[in-house]
Amino acid sequence: MKRITSLLAAAAISVASFAAPTFAQDKGMVGISMPTKTSTRWISDGETMEKLFEEAGYQPDLQFADDDIPNQLAQIENMVTKGAKVLVIGAIDGTTLSDILQKAADSGVRIIAYDRLIRDSGNVDYYATFDNFQVGVLQASSLVEGLKARFPDTKPWNVELFGGSPDDNNAFFFYDGAMSVLQPMIDSGDIVVKSGQSGMETVGTLRWDGSVAQARMENLLSSTYTDGRVDGVLSPYDGLSIGILSALKGVGYGSGDMLMPVVTGQDAELPSVKSILADEQYSTVFKDTRELAKVAVNMVNAVMEGKEPEVNDTETYDNGVKVVPSYLLKPVAVDKSNAKDILVGAGYYTEDQIDN
Ligand code: BGC
Repeated sequence: MKRITSLLAAAAISVASFAAPTFAQDKGMVGISMPTKTSTRWISDGETMEKLFEEAGYQPDLQFADDDIPNQLAQIENMVTKGAKVLVIGAIDGTTLSDILQKAADSGVRIIAYDRLIRDSGNVDYYATFDNFQVGVLQASSLVEGLKARFPDTKPWNVELFGGSPDDNNAFFFYDGAMSVLQPMIDSGDIVVKSGQSGMETVGTLRWDGSVAQARMENLLSSTYTDGRVDGVLSPYDGLSIGILSALKGVGYGSGDMLMPVVTGQDAELPSVKSILADEQYSTVFKDTRELAKVAVNMVNAVMEGKEPEVNDTETYDNGVKVVPSYLLKPVAVDKSNAKDILVGAGYYTEDQIDN
């Protein structure tokens, strides 16, 4: 009996010593609302933040909205009801959150826009993202570099343009950044957009859907390229590039003497990195989501301690109501020549993941 009592006492002590720091450190709930699980980057963003918030003593509530706007609204509303102190939101449609954010702000909740700007709301406190214009510049620069390398003697080059989702503010920054490089070459005649299709209202891809991009590429091929070849495709995201490549392969590009057009991308998703190493996709843009998660967690920490978070841009991101103070990370261009060095070097993937 004595032995049982002392065992129980020991257990009680160890439970107490284990539990105490958790309570002492309870800094409150943080809602993390991510747009979708269809792309691994958002899963990694969400899970990295969840872990970092736990380590910092917060209770994270991580939700993915399956690219469904009412779903995201309901999830955020639920976070507010449960008493979240801060919301970190990667919006599906950056213009749909004004009402719920007003409700949140009325109950003192602070709001951080994650990767995608939340528009039309004065209640967005800070914005953590990458230099999105520069992403587009990197995509177009690598497209041009690829055209020069793969088709040195066949100027003008035929290029088709794809944009991201028109409800995502980033898509316009990517497109504008890319066109800052491509438009002068279109004007000088070095590049021809043979379909004549340009402008985000024409080339945007709703919800970043790869099958929509594939269908548009198939249409372009049958309407514009039964005669002559396409040399390059500006694609803003790896998930679209996969669809575009599949349309190209469908009509024979990449086999025999039909060289694969130069196709860009973004996010360094594993299937696309493999595709780059297999000489299909030409390039991607690596954005280290672990770093972005850290920036967001630091912002939340500062806000909770009543301090100003570190920002490095107070001019670029006007959301229609205010210029949201932002922290921009640097994107990195990746192609076959540096993919392993950069991605394995950063510890983003293991060599094994890339090779197998
Ligand atoms: C992100 C990109 C991503 C795209 C599709 C954008 O808002 O910045 O990294 O490729 O959404 O998920």
